[in-house]
Amino acid sequence: MITKFEFDSDVDGLNLLILAAVHGNETAGTNACYKLIQEFENGAIKLKKGKLTLVPVCNPQAYEKDVRSIDENLNRVMIMHENPCSYEQSLANEICPLIQSHRVVLDLHSTHCVGDVPFAFCDYPDQYNKKLIDALNVGFVLEGWPDIYSKQDAIQDFSTEHCAHMYGNTATTLECGYHKAPEAILLAYQAIINTLAVFDMIEASTPDKREKEHIQMDSYILKTKEGQLSRNYKHLDPVAKGEEIARYDDGECLYAPYDGYILLPNLQAPVNTEWYYLGRVKN
Ligand SMILES: [Zn+2]
Repeated sequence: MITKFEFDSDVDGLNLLILAAVHGNETAGTNACYKLIQEFENGAIKLKKGKLTLVPVCNPQAYEKDVRSIDENLNRVMIMHENPCSYEQSLANEICPLIQSHRVVLDLHSTHCVGDVPFAFCDYPDQYNKKLIDALNVGFVLEGWPDIYSKQDAIQDFSTEHCAHMYGNTATTLECGYHKAPEAILLAYQAIINTLAVFDMIEASTPDKREKEHIQMDSYILKTKEGQLSRNYKHLDPVAKGEEIARYDDGECLYAPYDGYILLPNLQAPVNTEWYYLGRVKN
């Protein structure tokens, strides 16, 4: 069972849902939610319009165990399941109705390496997530995730963003940086405050716009046999056309096809899984 916290201004406005710890060990957003809930409860912040719902822990068992998931990735099964056959599918059955009943969803994640750069995913751009993303304190926005999977046949991708889109709503995923870093908690907290501010739900100055690099995700590279990435790539490292990115044990090399960025590299990727993604700045 998930626990939700609801605050209603009783004044017409936006229905906003904040999700955290969809992946149980990504706790920056959870801590930010708890800080904010405390501030609402002690009156330090007051909701002036709309309705706010927070679910600080979307995957309680994984959160308890400090692991990503119990049976499977909750962010790939976010759809209603008639006969849920995993723990995460039963959680999805609790979370999907919330996504359905909120016009805007901010889904807070964090990443696993020290120094990871915060960024947002924007899978289905519209006026709501454009406004929301403008208010986030991140330098990078990744677009085009659903396209590369429809293009390159597919893992099933029932994410929170997909779920919101199916219901005619809007979700944005924010990766807040390394989840054990205090700055990630601060970034998550500020993201919620800024979101409430741009939708006029609290009394706060609208945040300054930060310049953002919008990166179009272009393709993913499946690791088809044993091999190594050619260096310790980090997410959002620039790559130059012709640069050797990876080398299979049999000597075959993979090169950057253009000047762009390497995205979500997995140094330990098992064979037959996504090794890394490529993208370039959107014009
Ligand atoms: Zn995550």
